[in-house]
Amino acid sequence: MPSTELHLLGTKDFVALEDAYGAQNYRPLDVVIERGEGVWVYDVEGKRYLDCLAAYSALNQGHCHPKLLATLIEQARKITLTSRAFRNAQLPLLYKDLHELTGFEMTLPMNSGAEAVETAIKAARKWGYTQKGIPENQAEIIVCENNFHGRTVTVVSFSTEDQYKNGFGPFTPGFRAIPFGDARALCAAITPNTCGFLLEPIQGEAGIILPPDGFLREAAEICRENRVLLMADEIQSGLGRTGKLFAYMHEGIRPDVLIVGKALAGGFYPVSAVLASREILGVFQPGYHGSTFGGNPLACALARTALRILVEEKLVERSAELGEYFLARLKKVQSSIVREIRGRGLWIGIELDTSARPCCEALKQEGILCKETHGRIIRIAPPLVIQREEVDWACDRISKVLA
Ligand SMILES: *Cc1c(COP(=O)(O)O)cnc(C)c1O
Repeated sequence: MPSTELHLLGTKDFVALEDAYGAQNYRPLDVVIERGEGVWVYDVEGKRYLDCLAAYSALNQGHCHPKLLATLIEQARKITLTSRAFRNAQLPLLYKDLHELTGFEMTLPMNSGAEAVETAIKAARKWGYTQKGIPENQAEIIVCENNFHGRTVTVVSFSTEDQYKNGFGPFTPGFRAIPFGDARALCAAITPNTCGFLLEPIQGEAGIILPPDGFLREAAEICRENRVLLMADEIQSGLGRTGKLFAYMHEGIRPDVLIVGKALAGGFYPVSAVLASREILGVFQPGYHGSTFGGNPLACALARTALRILVEEKLVERSAELGEYFLARLKKVQSSIVREIRGRGLWIGIELDTSARPCCEALKQEGILCKETHGRIIRIAPPLVIQREEVDWACDRISKVLA
């Protein structure tokens, strides 16, 4: 179709085209977004919506942040990709920024979140064999039930969700699932061959599930005593979403391996990374692991700016303050269909007694975009640049829909 005709297309036309030619591995709301700015997006009909999903927290810095846009253009004019066969002038600076912000000694850059999870698994296994003396091919990693760590075959191998797995086997062995938040089960699952415990400090896709208080501290202690690497997947919970830079900070612990992605480049680019000590990431020698695009200069320049925005605009503090306000306001909502409202920072789960999809459709009519997770849970996760008046605006509409 000539591009001159495209501006005549409306929502229905785009939906029809998408359904005709695209694989149907998602069931999106029928809103066709054309542009965005901060917390707001605009559809092809010109209607405005408050984005309360923020691309599963990849947009903590808001849509089309002007500083990220400037970085994108500036860096794209210079150079975008070198491959790791050569060095580039952005990657070392990102390493340094990440080290100074997080305190971790080393970084290994990748692109998607799932790739970073795979990288962490490889690191833990190799560490298990070379440092802990686990017999070859016997390494085990403990994970939590209802986890979400991505969609590759190895990652879905340790999912407990049928629809993520059915028909995709055979699966990668070497994983064992325990109930999330159960320190006793963690102890019981550890064997001499356990190299790592991989978890989301707060489970996102499962529906913003907070572990019992003290669990992270206990888990860290158990891992330390048994020489098991504690691996925190903070792809969704990290970079300010929960009101701390990382969710593990709520219990004053530090994981051995930290996995980040999503908001690391503020929605402009897929950038992920694994952070750990020299002892752990040192297991990778030249040729052991890699990625054509991982660590490319455009990705690194964007990630550096995205991190700077988090700090300069105090987005972590904003998430803590406005998240508390948002949660308190939502908890006052009178509704017969709400079972529980919980959250931390600007990451709130509203669990209903009924399907959440009709609520998400109704919220869309009111100008709020949310996506249900696990059928009955509405996740509220706006960009962290949201203002108090916008929180009020959203609360009024959410209250109306829930009532
Ligand atoms: C989104 C997500 C991933 C996967 O990231 P992709 O970039 O989609 O591969 C992994 N872990 C968690 C906790 C996530 O939220």
